[in-house]
This record gives sequence, C-alpha cells and structure tokens, in this order.
Amino acid sequence: MNYRSTRGSNEYKRSAEAIIKGIAEDKGLYVPERIPALEIEPTELIGKDYRQVASAVLPKFLDDYSQEELAHCIDRAYDEKFEAAEVVPVVKAGDAYFLELYHGKTAAFKDMALSILPYLLTTAMVKENEANKIAILTATSGDTGKAALEGFADVEGTEIVVFYPRDGVSLVQERQMTTQEGNNTHVFGIKGNFDDAQSAVKQIFNDPEVAKVLAESGYRLSSANSINIGRLVPQVAYYVWGYVQLLKDGVIQAGEKINVAVPTGNFGNILAAYYAKEMGIPIKTFICASNQNNVLTDFIHTGIYDRNRNFFVTSSPSMDILISSNLERLLYHLAGGNGEEIAEMMSELERNGSYEVSDLIRKGLEDFYGGFANEEETAKAILSMYENSGYLMDTHTAVGYKVYQDYKNATGDETPTLIAATASAYKFADSVIRALDPSETVTGFAAVDAVAIKTGVKVPTGLEGLSRRTVRHDVVLARDELSETVVRLFR
Ligand SMILES: *Cc1c(COP(=O)(O)O)cnc(C)c1O
Repeated sequence: MNYRSTRGSNEYKRSAEAIIKGIAEDKGLYVPERIPALEIEPTELIGKDYRQVASAVLPKFLDDYSQEELAHCIDRAYDEKFEAAEVVPVVKAGDAYFLELYHGKTAAFKDMALSILPYLLTTAMVKENEANKIAILTATSGDTGKAALEGFADVEGTEIVVFYPRDGVSLVQERQMTTQEGNNTHVFGIKGNFDDAQSAVKQIFNDPEVAKVLAESGYRLSSANSINIGRLVPQVAYYVWGYVQLLKDGVIQAGEKINVAVPTGNFGNILAAYYAKEMGIPIKTFICASNQNNVLTDFIHTGIYDRNRNFFVTSSPSMDILISSNLERLLYHLAGGNGEEIAEMMSELERNGSYEVSDLIRKGLEDFYGGFANEEETAKAILSMYENSGYLMDTHTAVGYKVYQDYKNATGDETPTLIAATASAYKFADSVIRALDPSETVTGFAAVDAVAIKTGVKVPTGLEGLSRRTVRHDVVLARDELSETVVRLFR
C-alpha cells in the first residue's frame, strides 16, 4: 500500500517513509491511496485483548512493516503503563457508552497514538536505513505535547521540541510539560495560540535555512502532530475495539450500526472513526462536537470553512483550534482523491482564511452531524452527569456528551452511541470543580485535591506529585522566534 499527498503531487511513499517524513513535499498530508478493509468479522475479535485488536488493524495500513516489527511496537506501546487492565475501558453512563481513551501515562487520549509512534518511527529508521537522527517538532494545544515528550524522552536518535500556547493550556497541562525530564527534550511556551504554533511549525518544515542547518548537523525533521500518518493509524484501532466491546456486552448484534460522538479539535480523532467505518465497522453518524470555537459546526452546516472569526480560550483548551488540519484528509477522500481540488481549497484557506467545498464533498458530509457547547453548557453537562450517574467527565468529554444530547433531540435517533472520553477530569480540575460546585474558589493543584475529595475518583498516577516536580523548561518565545530557536538548538 502506498501513501500519497492530499494535494495531489506524484509522490508515493511506503508507510515507514511517510512516518519519517511527517508531511508531504507539496505541504499536503499523507493519505493511504485506498482505505484497506478489515477482512475479519468484528465478532471474531470478541474476547481478544487490546493488543490483539490493534494487531488486526495496524498491519492493514502499515503493510511494509513485518509482523514481528509490528508485534514489537504494539507490545511495547500498550503495556502496564496503561492504568486500566483493558487499556481502553468502555463504560456505560447515562444514555451513552464512554470509550475511555485516557488511561495512559499523560491522562489524555493522545497517549493512544504517542505510546506507539516512537516505536513505529525508530523501526522505520532502521527499515529505511536512515542515517540521520530525527528532530521532532510538535505544536500542541496542551495534550499532544506531554504525550509526545513522554513517548520520545531519551529515545536514542531523536530530539523532541514542543511549542505550546503560554496562555492557552491548563496549569496541569503546562506543568506536565515544563517538568519533563530527558536529555533530548525541549519545551517552549509561545505568545500566541495553538493555530499560531501549528502554522509556525508547518512553516519551519518548509524553511530551507532550517533544513540546511539540520542536514549539516545530521538531523532531519519529523512531526508528532496528527498530521503524521503514524499518529492517525493507531487511533483507528480503538474504534474497532469499542465496537467489539459493545458486541461482547450484547448492546448490539453483529452488523448493527453505532454512532460515535467525538470532541474535536484538529479532526484527527474523528477522522480515525471515519477510517474505521471505511474499513467495515458499521457506523451510522459521526457526531462532531466543538466548543465555542465552532468553525467545524458551521462548516458541516454550510459547506463553507471560515476561520475569520474570534478565537476563544475555553475550559476545553485542547479543542481551541480554528484550523483543523486533518479535515484536509477527509476532504481528499470525499473528493474521490482529487488532489488538485484540495490544493486549491488549501491555498484559498491560506490566502483568505476560507473556502467552500464542492457538491460532491457536501454529499459525503451527510454522515456528519456538527454541534457545539458553550462554556455554561459544558459545565452543566459535567454537573448533571455527575449528579444523575456518578460519572465524572472532563471538559472535552462533556462537550461531546452535550452535543450528543442535541443530536438525539434533533433526530430522535436511539442508535447506541460511543462517546470518545478524551481526558481525565483532573487535567482540567479548575473548570471541573467549579462545574460540580459553582461556589468553589480553589484553583491549580488545590483544585485537583478538591475534585478528589468531592468525587473519590482516583488521581491518575502520572499526575501525582506534579506540583512538587522541578520546572526544567521556562523559556517563552514570541511567535516569530520559533524558527531561529530551532536553528539554534541544532546548529
Ligand atoms: C487533542 C484533544 C482533543 C481533540 O482531538 P483532535 O484529534 O485534535 O480532534 C479532544 N480532547 C482532548 C482532551 C484532546 O487532548
């Protein structure tokens, strides 16, 4: 199977090469030429553990890796560092099924892909006889940064550089990153938002000066953002897993459809669900949930993507994004692989901040329902779920749940629905404690303790003692200093 660019150039790559490169030469994103079929009935996966399910999915996309190579990667990624024995528990609460993706080391769903990406990448480097070392540049809205740092810390042959918006992440998220250990880790706050960080990183990838300095020092660039196909592919597995658990529990019968509801920022997670459907998992509706930064809600309703709008810092900061990179991949597939059309829209986005899709693409979007939750609705969802079911949702998951309620009210659809539970409530404890009790005034790490006392939910091991760890990274950069910083690091 080959990967090619969403923007249509005639560059064809095996998956290992695409994972090393991160982004295509024409600035597009690598996509599989065709989405492979699962070739096994979901019922045959009942009773298999998470690694076995991942082993049924990943080889279909990564067919240039040998069975032994993939087994090595999967076994090392999904081991005891996940605090839940099932790796990804599926929990019924209220009228929905929560796919709990946050039991990894950094307590957010990014661990699902970033636990395995370092193994996929280092294996790829051996396979492709890559002589250079790899410099991984990552822009983060809060959770990718820590998960990437944790995954790549002290991995031989790699350096990892993370840029996060200084005033756009929660205290727990920030402290997780700034206390990161490892001799190959570099973390910088930036004065700007996630879109600024992501655009700067994409520019660095195409900066000849950076490329030259890195080449002279024996490095090449790659990305740990979900623009890297090595991030996306592992995420497909957990939708297959989620479907199989609903079969196992008798919630659905073989062949029956489910919906998925996904709190969405960069569109990677929900795109993985789309890939799962194309592989053969029966999914009816993709419920795309946004926070106040609801550019995707409007896009799904109108077919017009328009980022010219106010940017809000919300209580679900990992979704504070106006340019959802992975949407480009969906558009490519819905346009029947017409890369020129995608290139045209993306250059319009760069020029004017907006574009409109064709009728063909709009037709393909009919399986997507778009909605959003404002701050008050998010807080209300956390409180009512906790009061009615004793189930604790983080702010992002709460956005997903609220939009699922809107979907049900609008359509009357009672199809069993998996909601992607994307983070532990403790990462956003300030907002969560205030949602549970508006009279609370505690902030920061005191809020973590307050949530623990109030709910009795266990604090994830990775967050324990965080307030006492030494801050090792405290440099804050202006937006235009990113590329010179990278040059300085690697000169
Ligand atoms: C990254 C993130 C999201 C958004 O996921 P995308 O793949 O970027 O759409 C949602 N919730 C949390 C907690 C996240 O960390």
